[in-house]
Amino acid sequence: MVVVVDTVAARSRHPEKAGRPDTPLLRKPAWIRVKAPGSAGYIKTRALVKEHGLNTVCEEAGCPNVGECWEKRHVTMMIMGDTCTRACAFCNVRTGIPDPLESDEPQRVGDAVAKLDLAHVVITSVDRDDLDDGGAAHFARVIGAIRAAAPDTTIEILTPDFLRKPGALEVVVAAKPDVFNHNLETVPSLYLTVRPGARYFHSLRLLQQVKELDRTMFTKSGIMVGFGESRNEVLQLMDDLRCADVDFLTIGQYLQPTRKHHVVDRFVTPDEFDAYKTVAMAKGFLLVSSSPLTRSSYHADEDFAQLQASRAAKVGNRPLA
Ligand code: SF4
Repeated sequence: MVVVVDTVAARSRHPEKAGRPDTPLLRKPAWIRVKAPGSAGYIKTRALVKEHGLNTVCEEAGCPNVGECWEKRHVTMMIMGDTCTRACAFCNVRTGIPDPLESDEPQRVGDAVAKLDLAHVVITSVDRDDLDDGGAAHFARVIGAIRAAAPDTTIEILTPDFLRKPGALEVVVAAKPDVFNHNLETVPSLYLTVRPGARYFHSLRLLQQVKELDRTMFTKSGIMVGFGESRNEVLQLMDDLRCADVDFLTIGQYLQPTRKHHVVDRFVTPDEFDAYKTVAMAKGFLLVSSSPLTRSSYHADEDFAQLQASRAAKVGNRPLA
C-alpha cells in the first residue's frame, strides 16, 4: 500500500492540522491493497518527471495507483507549485503560502507530454486563491503549450473552483481542453468538515457553466465515499450533477493520508460501488467509474475514448443542442 500514515509528515506538510488530535485508523480491507511501485516503466516515468522538474498529484496526494499508472506512463501533472492555499480535510497536498508562478512551466509540461508520447494527459493544480485569477491564465498557457508540443494529445484538466475569481472560468474554457473536470469531492452536508474552503453549489454551478460556455466540452466530476455520507445523499448528488449536464462521474473510496486527516468512517464494499454505477448510469451519465480505487484521473486515457463513443452512440451526427 502506498498511502503513508505519518504524524510527523502531517505536522510539516499541513501546519493547520498539526494541533488536531490524532484520528483513529481503520484497518484496510483486502480489496484496497495494491502492489508497491517499482517496475521498469514506473522508474522511467519517475525519471522523466524529475528531469522536467514537474510536480504530480500522483506523488503529492500519495495515490495508491501510482505503480499501475506510471507503469503505463499515465501521469497527472500538478501545475502552479506544490503548495495549496486551501486546507481540505482529506487532502495530502502540502498547504501554506505558495511560491510565485514559474513562467517556463507551460513549456516544461508541454515538453514532458511530448516525450511521454501520451494519447491523453490530465493536468491538475493546487488551489491558488492568492492569485487574482486563481491561476486561470496559467492553466490556459499550459493547455496552449501542450497543443503546440503534442498536437495529437487530448487534454483533460482537473481544476480548482475559482471561487471569488470572476472571469476565470471563461479564460480556461476558451483554451479548449477536451475534458473539464472539477470534483465535488463529497455530499453537501459534509462540506464544512471535509471541504471547508469550498461551496457545494458554487462547484455545481461551475460545472454547469462549462457546458453553457461550450456544449461540446466533456464535463466530469468525482466524489470520494467513506466519509460518513448516506446512500441517499450520494443519489441526490448524482441528480444534481445530471441537472448540471455533467457527462462523467467518478466514485472512489476515501483513504486517510495521516492521523491528522479526516477519519475514514467506513470502507464501502465493491458491491456497493457496482450498485452506485448501475444507478448513476440509469440517471443518464455517459460514463461512470465506480470502484474502491477509482480516482478522478484513474484510467482517464481509456475513459476518454469511451466517453467519445458513448456520446456518439447517444447523439450520432446531430449537432449538440
Ligand atoms: S489515479 Fe491519477 S493521481 Fe493516481 S496515480 Fe493514477 S494518474 Fe496519478
